[in-house]
Amino acid sequence: MAKLIDGKAISAQIRCEIAEGATEFKEKYGRAPGLAVILVGEDPASQVYVRNKEKACAEVGFYSEVYRLSADTTQEELNALIDKLNADEKINGILVQLPLPKHLSESDVILRISPDKDVDAFHPYNVGKIMIGDFDFLPCTPAGVMELLERSGVEIAGKECVVVGRSNIVGKPQAMLLLHKSGTVTVCHSKTKNLAETCRRADILVAAIGKADFFGADMVKDGAVVIDVGMNRREDGKLTGDVNFAEVEPKASLITPVPGGVGPMTITMLMKNTLTAANKQAK
Ligand code: NDP
Repeated sequence: MAKLIDGKAISAQIRCEIAEGATEFKEKYGRAPGLAVILVGEDPASQVYVRNKEKACAEVGFYSEVYRLSADTTQEELNALIDKLNADEKINGILVQLPLPKHLSESDVILRISPDKDVDAFHPYNVGKIMIGDFDFLPCTPAGVMELLERSGVEIAGKECVVVGRSNIVGKPQAMLLLHKSGTVTVCHSKTKNLAETCRRADILVAAIGKADFFGADMVKDGAVVIDVGMNRREDGKLTGDVNFAEVEPKASLITPVPGGVGPMTITMLMKNTLTAANKQAK
């Protein structure tokens, strides 16, 4: 039987540490770290994410501003708001909730946010810094996975790490972070041949493909650490991961549940990046 990695508990612990950091920041500089979140349109999932980010800011003692813009906002209007926030000293981090309505350019938005306030770590400047291992911010979900591994006492150096998924926000940076910790990293994707065989080599398996219950017992080595990044909605509305938990849990040594594993860490890491940004800008 695997031991559960409790993302809720670890996330709560990190939020306490961030709240302490926010208090110290206020004592030093007379104001709280500030995060601005921009939401364009009415995507229901995005609305929930933005509300959760607002709540998390309140919980750790940050100042926050939320801009809810209509779906027909123009690129010029969005750019003008980002420029204003880039120049605003109360705001240390800027996040534009993705996806954007089709007529808006995500890459323009990513490039427009000042790299110093890029708390999602999507700007090519920050992506490049992650590549060379000299970074200020890490993308929130892979950073959350690293915290879960470290705080669960998982040794990464020399281990076979298999990351399934190669997106810019999860798979690729995840692979890079494991490599920085001296894991031997394999990245798999939809064109990978012998996926099950490759996954069975993993001491640490990170599943991030967005396919419910895809990873069964035949894809996991006995005693592996299994991290399930997937967040999929079943027909009954329940949230489920990419890993078939019932099958894999008896084989793994450690496993993250869904919900309650990686999910709670993502917003917590956004708070951590905002505190880092605030301290860096205050210097
Ligand atoms: P993307 O859709 O951007 O990427 C999915 C990746 O999985 C692609 O690289 C794709 O390969 C690969 N893939 C798809 N099908 C297969 C398959 N059958 N075999 C092997 N590889 C496959 O997704 P994201 O990276 O954005 O997200 C992945 C999952 O993580 C989703 O469930 C998402 O909801 C979840 N997520 C969870 C977060 C959290 O906070 N817990 C945050 C962000 C995401 P290819 O490149 O070849 O197409």
